[in-house]
Amino acid sequence: MTKVVKFIGKDIIKENAKLAERLRRLYDETGVRVLEFLGGPGSGKTTLIERLMERLTRDYKPEEIAYIGGDVATTLDTERIARYGVRHVQINTGGTCHLEVPHVEAAIKALGGPEALRQLRVMVIENVGNIICPFNFPLGAHARIMVAGVPEGEDKFIKHPLSTRVSDIIVINKIDLAPYVGVNLDKMIQDAKKINPRAPVFLVSAKTGEGVDKLYDYLRANIIEARQPAPAPQ
Ligand code: MG
Ligand code: ZN
Repeated sequence: MTKVVKFIGKDIIKENAKLAERLRRLYDETGVRVLEFLGGPGSGKTTLIERLMERLTRDYKPEEIAYIGGDVATTLDTERIARYGVRHVQINTGGTCHLEVPHVEAAIKALGGPEALRQLRVMVIENVGNIICPFNFPLGAHARIMVAGVPEGEDKFIKHPLSTRVSDIIVINKIDLAPYVGVNLDKMIQDAKKINPRAPVFLVSAKTGEGVDKLYDYLRANIIEARQPAPAPQ
């Protein structure tokens, strides 16, 4: 009889969650605060991170800031962020559609290991563009920020309740395009709040800069400069 090993994906997810707690301990021991950005391809993660880097480099020294870019094959996003003079490293997953803890551990090693983390105030991780499985593989970040682009559709949160639920912060991006694509922003906000009442929802346009200050101020006060350690990854 053929042996069938079922739910192997679930085991990988469980194992990754355990490793994520180890990463979180490393972050907390070294004092770096970690923001992870997740969202579908073209949701505007990199452009939003550029806007945040403009603000971060105003408040912190470039050597206190690091960026880890997850991508299947290119270095395009990391090159964009490197222009801000911050520490940066690219992870090319070679086809895998999400980051796992060993990817981040390798990237930290490339940055200079725990000693390098001690010099950081904030580390930004941009996950591979994908609205589904990156949400199943926590990386120990203090805040997981879901980015949904308005042109992706009004029903984004309803269609991806699990991704919406595990996010700590929800960003609706490209709000300047809402009138052109016929998206009801109020409906999107209501959906997000209904599925995940604990996550604050921010409306931004990374392109025009609208709403970015509000998001940045929130991240700075509640995550980057927070005195209380954030709750453990879930
Ligand atoms: Mg990107
Ligand atoms: Zn994946």
